[in-house]
Amino acid sequence: MLGTILHAPRDVRCEEVAEPKILHPTDAIIRLSATCVCGSDLWPYRGLNDVTQPMHMGHEYCGIVVEIGSAVTTVKPGQFVVGSFCISDNTCPHCRFGFQSSCEQREFMTGAQATLARVPLADGTLVPTAEMPSDDLIPSLLATSDVLGTGWYAADAARVQPGSTVVVVGDGAVGLMGILAAKQMGAGRIIAMSRHKTRQELALEYGATDIVAERGDEGVAKVRELTQRIGADSVLECVGTQESMSQALACARPGSMIGYVGVPHGVQFDGQRLFFAQVGMLGGPAPVRRFLPHLMDLVLTRKINPGKVFDLVLPLADVAEGYRAMDERRAIKTMLRV
Ligand SMILES: [Zn+2]
Repeated sequence: MLGTILHAPRDVRCEEVAEPKILHPTDAIIRLSATCVCGSDLWPYRGLNDVTQPMHMGHEYCGIVVEIGSAVTTVKPGQFVVGSFCISDNTCPHCRFGFQSSCEQREFMTGAQATLARVPLADGTLVPTAEMPSDDLIPSLLATSDVLGTGWYAADAARVQPGSTVVVVGDGAVGLMGILAAKQMGAGRIIAMSRHKTRQELALEYGATDIVAERGDEGVAKVRELTQRIGADSVLECVGTQESMSQALACARPGSMIGYVGVPHGVQFDGQRLFFAQVGMLGGPAPVRRFLPHLMDLVLTRKINPGKVFDLVLPLADVAEGYRAMDERRAIKTMLRV
């Protein structure tokens, strides 16, 4: 079968690899319907994370179950399933509190940019649909696996309320999904901080009411002007740099919440600044499993169309071009047809 291996920075290849096998009774094997390239796949691709051995890439997935281990009871061969990029048992205390991304048995999914993939803890991780979804819904169902689930978590963690004012920092795929989520949660005003024309258009389509193209102090000044100098009720931080975190903090009114889902790279905070800002912060890897049933339902009933975030669709064999296009910002997000 075909699989995606990162051999070294900027050397990603679709090649013949061994088929995955059931290793534990709680495993399932799925045949991918579609998969995609994540912004976080670009860290090792760009050499920002060490690549010490060939890495099997891919953690966003949906597909059809082909085999299950002897202990699996909630999914069966032939069913269409979506799972989170975080493997979870969905039964431990953290899972029961809705933080499946901190599951006591957590693993991170790998090897999903492939024909077949092994999903550990299948009962806890996978959510089946009642029937085979129509083909045109596959991109949106795939999006629930990570990018939408993560944007949704940002809005949930930032406690977006009906009528509230929301700022979204970051116009990558996750930021755009955060806008969609805030809109679904009833936000009254959604200010998207975005400099790129095509992303601004998608932001508006997903529910942004205002676009702020300025960055840094200028961007903050613009947000304060738009919010009568009060700041936002909720801020979604979807980048993870020092600049974006500072921007999020400066846009948040006292008493507000920041949901931060961009994995921090080199971010540092001054204790006094945090103390006097009087804002709440909740972030981390998204507990997508908590939201999956609801998000899949919104997609299956065609209330949302997160699949539009995939502006490049390629066959799995062309995965290298998919990485290149995202690396060079020619594409927001690449979907791979398997
Ligand atoms: Zn758990």
